[in-house]
Amino acid sequence: EELAALLLGRIRDVADYPKPGIVFKDITPLLADPVAFGALTEALAAFATEQGATKVVGLEARGFILAAPVAVRAGLGFVPVRKAGKLPGATLSQSYDLEYGSAEMEIHAEDLTAQDRVLVIDDVLATGGTAEASLRLISRSGATVAGLGVLMELSFLGGASRVRAALDGAPYQAL
Ligand code: IMP
Repeated sequence: EELAALLLGRIRDVADYPKPGIVFKDITPLLADPVAFGALTEALAAFATEQGATKVVGLEARGFILAAPVAVRAGLGFVPVRKAGKLPGATLSQSYDLEYGSAEMEIHAEDLTAQDRVLVIDDVLATGGTAEASLRLISRSGATVAGLGVLMELSFLGGASRVRAALDGAPYQAL
């Protein structure tokens, strides 16, 4: 597809980053290209509108860069999901397992209401742990998950099936 080719052409593979044996997907060339960044923003904003979203959640840190213009474009509010300890107010927090150890994501509880329908956005879905924890945060807040949209999925890691349960039937799009 034309959009996928445009986006993929602006994602750079960086070998052995951040560790030997890892091929890191670097999205900075895409962000630096106004045509590609604009097309990505339009596609995700259309997804938000189609799903009747009322809020756009971005996942720290690259998810913020993608989700904020989508929220503005779609006329919706933006809410950050952050790594533990960064949000100053009352938070809900959700931990999840990493290969070694665990991590924790947080959201300001007051930023979502039971009336909200939330589209969650991140750059790369890898194992799916970050997105899954974030979707659980949305559900625990009492809001409804409207969908999950990512720029890119590393399909060989099986993240899509991991997020399925947390999506509870809501749509998932990897552009
Ligand atoms: P997961 O929790 O294993 O799915 O990892 C996803 C999180 O790690 C996302 O927030 C991504 O931003 C980040 N991530 C993992 N791999 C890459 C990559 O190759 N490029 C950019 N971000 C990545």
